[in-house]
Amino acid sequence: MRLKNTFIKTLREAPKDELAKNGALLTRAGYIHKEMAGVYDYLPLGLRVIENIKNIIREELNAIGCEEVLMSTLQNPEPWEKTGRFSDQEVDIWFKTKLASGGELGLAPTHEEPMVNMLKTYISSYKDLPLYVYQFQTKFRNELRAKSGVMRGREFLMKDLYSFHVSEADLDNFYEKVEDAYARIFDRLGIGDCTYKTFASGGIFSKYSHEYQTLLDVGEDTIYYNKDHSLVFNKEVFNDEVLAEFGAKREDFEETNAAETGNIFKLMFKYSEPLGLKFSDEENHMQTVYMGCYGMGVSRLMGVIAEKFADNKGLIWPKSVAPFQIYLVGIGEEGTKRAEEFYNEHADKILFDDRDVRPGEKFADSELMGIPYRVVISDKTLADGVAEVVERASGETSKISLDKLSDLL
Ligand code: ATP
Ligand code: MG
Repeated sequence: MRLKNTFIKTLREAPKDELAKNGALLTRAGYIHKEMAGVYDYLPLGLRVIENIKNIIREELNAIGCEEVLMSTLQNPEPWEKTGRFSDQEVDIWFKTKLASGGELGLAPTHEEPMVNMLKTYISSYKDLPLYVYQFQTKFRNELRAKSGVMRGREFLMKDLYSFHVSEADLDNFYEKVEDAYARIFDRLGIGDCTYKTFASGGIFSKYSHEYQTLLDVGEDTIYYNKDHSLVFNKEVFNDEVLAEFGAKREDFEETNAAETGNIFKLMFKYSEPLGLKFSDEENHMQTVYMGCYGMGVSRLMGVIAEKFADNKGLIWPKSVAPFQIYLVGIGEEGTKRAEEFYNEHADKILFDDRDVRPGEKFADSELMGIPYRVVISDKTLADGVAEVVERASGETSKISLDKLSDLL
């Protein structure tokens, strides 16, 4: 991408009401635009980050046999009424709207009900199972507070996966596969070493559900972890009874803040029973489908990664999610010409700062935007047949010969 051709501009200041570091930095660096509290637009750079996160998740889920769909945002109240969840008393974050012809609709805060309802058309026999269906979808939630930038939106992007099984054993088996896939996803996103599978409340028969908590100073959740991080509990479940169950002592745990980036639940019959999702087994007996659900906050992940790795100069993206690998600057006539040539060979991975501004301004913007490598080709570096490369994360400078530059990609 050529910076001159985009409408993107870095901003000296973030909106006054943007209190979160991730929101302020992403705004100043030209990744997002704030519409109002908890509602953001994703600009070309931000969209590339979102797509990179989605692709990592997609690859790992497809590898365990999941099928991608895209379901509707507008919700027919009917299936939700069957589980009692259309009620504002039961679910207090609904956005609802009215049809011109009369009647109420909801904007989906999650998709268990429509997913189960849809699959009633396609599941009738044990031969139709198991099924693993997921989507990347915009969810709407009337959150009371939205002060954490893109980490808590009123409109946000979630990956939601639902699994359908003939038995609890099959559900258990798939649940473990998702745990492994989640571990690979967090590793690839660059936050594997600071994201822990955490015991949380809300399990149906298994007592616990699991959350994936990423260590973060400003995270909204409080978690407790032991020395080797083999046991991590959410605040809701961290009590004497649970400690006794795991044979653990309170003094072995430390408290810290974290952000919930994903979660996984064994739902069992919670939704399939009230919605009547059944299959006929090998003996032709009707049975209720076993279910699991597995969420991940795509836009929250972007916020968490932005927040976690930033320094006083700006964002620092892990290479796997960075919108571009190289921020390219050409200085002087020959330097600019050679930069153009390098850009044209790898335009999809390079952000070429071809604006008519001082190099100092370009350098500052490259740091604010957090692109992994800044490459400068100038008449001076060309005299030695090299380009100057600065790695954003470490700040290390090196010289690389021009024919080796593409190794950075
Ligand atoms: P939280 O406790 O943070 O409100 P939740 O338990 O309501 O999360 P789920 O309904 O299970 O979350 O949603 C799945 C995932 O979607 C969460 O793990 C989180 O990463 C993300 N998520 C939830 N609410 C929001 C939000 N308002 N904005 C951005 N991401 C969110
Ligand atoms: Mg919530």
